[in-house]
Amino acid sequence: MVSNILVIGASGGAIVARQLSESLPPTHRLILIERLNFAYHPISSLRGAVIPGFEENNFASFDNFFDKGSRHVVLSGTEVTKLGEDSVTISGEFEESNTIPFDYACLALGATYPVPGRPRSTSKEEGLENQRQMQRDIKAAKSILVVGGGPVGVEFVGEVRTQYPKSTGKAITLATSGGELIPGGWKKSLGQKIHTLLTSEGIDIKYNAKVNLPEDVEVGKLLPTLRSFELPDGGKVEADFVVMATGGKPNTSLVKQDHPEALNDMGLIKVEPTTLRVLDPKLGKYFAMGDCSDSPGPNTYFAVMQQAPVVVAHMNALAQGKGKASKAYKEPMNVMVVPFGPSQGHGQIGPFVMGSWVTSLGKGKTLFVPDFKKLYRV
Ligand SMILES: Cc1cc2nc3c(=O)[nH]c(=O)nc-3n(C[C@H](O)[C@H](O)[C@H](O)COP(=O)(O)OP(=O)(O)OC[C@H]3O[C@@H](n4cnc5c(N)ncnc54)[C@H](O)[C@@H]3O)c2cc1C
Repeated sequence: MVSNILVIGASGGAIVARQLSESLPPTHRLILIERLNFAYHPISSLRGAVIPGFEENNFASFDNFFDKGSRHVVLSGTEVTKLGEDSVTISGEFEESNTIPFDYACLALGATYPVPGRPRSTSKEEGLENQRQMQRDIKAAKSILVVGGGPVGVEFVGEVRTQYPKSTGKAITLATSGGELIPGGWKKSLGQKIHTLLTSEGIDIKYNAKVNLPEDVEVGKLLPTLRSFELPDGGKVEADFVVMATGGKPNTSLVKQDHPEALNDMGLIKVEPTTLRVLDPKLGKYFAMGDCSDSPGPNTYFAVMQQAPVVVAHMNALAQGKGKASKAYKEPMNVMVVPFGPSQGHGQIGPFVMGSWVTSLGKGKTLFVPDFKKLYRV
């Protein structure tokens, strides 16, 4: 009988699934489990929420992920609801059971973000319609408030301003709780260059401006009227469309419910830093990677791409009864690319701060959509 290897979460987890499906011995089959009924591309999500037609790039089906007749399986629209030592419980049924036994499993559960960084719906059709509605709402909005001065907030104002230049009169305010843009240990000059770019594009930047949204304000939707939001210095911002870009939270409630000791105090799954194997002995058959794990380095897709081959090497070695593989995870180089629409922006590679040309070529122009489509074979 064939044994199961599970990958739970089909964003960064899909890279592991693709590589494992090509290398697992015939004694094992891979089951990729994803709660959404589609694959989602967060990196292009902001442009998809602003520019009509672009939303199609954020979604992919799993129909061609494995070859027809492959022994490997994608269970999409299926949530893992409980983690056992050597089986998981799922929301649906697979082979007439709601539990799936496994030899080894990889947790790639990711993070939760406000829309549009993650979709509002678990159905592709609703997800697409939500983004189309957001495009219409942004078009209709007179004044847009983006809360958060990190890369997602900056990138979002860039998408809106590129589609609706200064001459359209659409007001855009970026409010951040700190005193600089792109905080978090990146070079000060990166934030300063982005400040200059945003100011030249007519973006009103409010520093040290933590915004407490009243409960009745729905983010990512056109508000019925212009609302006034108070700032800590006594100032006010008027807006009829608000987007939160204050970062993600690890999506690890599934682990917390039965294995709280497997999490660190930030809610990340604790892993051995070179093998990415979960440290909690009750979850000894699990690996964890990406935004849900405390693997060294930033939570980025770029890091996930470096982690996937490590998990694959170790799972393959275990499936072949070889024990440990020699491949070790090393923290990737610091890379931050912050486009402002397709052709402007700034970024940092290692110690070097880059301008528009490199930023556009490195990310802004394509937002890695061709790589996304290639991974899911669409
Ligand atoms: C706007 C934006 C722009 C970005 N730009 C960049 C960039 O340019 N470069 C870069 O490197 N990174 C970028 N990132 C970060 C990058 O998107 C994340 O680091 C990456 O998506 C992490 O991948 P992941 O697989 O760990 O998590 P996620 O992408 O969050 O995927 C987790 C998956 O697991 C599924 N899942 C969760 N729980 C369950 C369950 N119980 N059962 C089944 N399935 C489940 C979810 O539905 C989801 O599909 C950006 C992020 C955003 C929001």
